[in-house]
Amino acid sequence: MNKLVIIISLLILFSNNCFAKDKLKFFIGENKINLEGFFIQGGYVKGKTSSKIKIKFENRDVYLGKKNKFILGFGRDYSEVANLKFNIDNKWINKTLKIKKNKYKIQKIDGLPKKFVSPPKEIYERIIRENKLIAKVRTLNSKIDYTFQDFLLPANGIITGIFGSQRILNGKPRRPHYGIDIAAEKGSKVISPTDAIVRLSEKDLYFTGGTIMLDHGHGITSVYSHLSKVLVKKNDEIQKGDIIGLIGSTGRSTGPHLDWRINWFDQRLDPMMFIKNK
Ligand SMILES: [Zn+2]
Repeated sequence: MNKLVIIISLLILFSNNCFAKDKLKFFIGENKINLEGFFIQGGYVKGKTSSKIKIKFENRDVYLGKKNKFILGFGRDYSEVANLKFNIDNKWINKTLKIKKNKYKIQKIDGLPKKFVSPPKEIYERIIRENKLIAKVRTLNSKIDYTFQDFLLPANGIITGIFGSQRILNGKPRRPHYGIDIAAEKGSKVISPTDAIVRLSEKDLYFTGGTIMLDHGHGITSVYSHLSKVLVKKNDEIQKGDIIGLIGSTGRSTGPHLDWRINWFDQRLDPMMFIKNK
């Protein structure tokens, strides 16, 4: 890795990392509600209520864990207002949250040969089948509280890709990049950021190659892609810091790196916002 790459990577890392946590306190009837976190696209807030109360967000029942803790996520392109609903005496009370706009890197590349733009027709079925497996894991609302642990960075390396960036190839906007890319030598270890349950363990998915999905509870799942080795099985219960796989370049990848993603159900979150003192 040359010096310039390292300097650019550090600039990307720090420029994308100045999100500040905000706090919000309010009452719904007798219930005191505390929210703390990142009220921004790609962000999340952790909440706590003084007593049990039914909450709905994005048409989902929000699960209250130990000490009435919960979490809400706002995807990459989330609208400016989030509607949080609380049930009191069988009536739903709405609380609106302001969600800040995030800035993403957009890169335009023209004049590419066509084969790099769209995958061949015959693999569409395979892609659809694999996407369904992933989508199913993202519907889980597991009653485990690992989500509230401090997250570890799952690999050591150089951050070469950031959350939310997007390429426009030959005038066609591609899917935004929802993960962060950590480049490191093939065979470098990938660890679990918190205690977790393994929900998907696949050696060879079309796009993401060796892929692991972990469930942290409350709709928070994380994805580890392009692994050269997958060292855990579906339904394994693992602990924070356990080695789950090795970095590789399997699937559609241009070099050894870990692509790390975090979801709140179908909402894509910026993994860096989970790393303490980032
Ligand atoms: Zn990536």
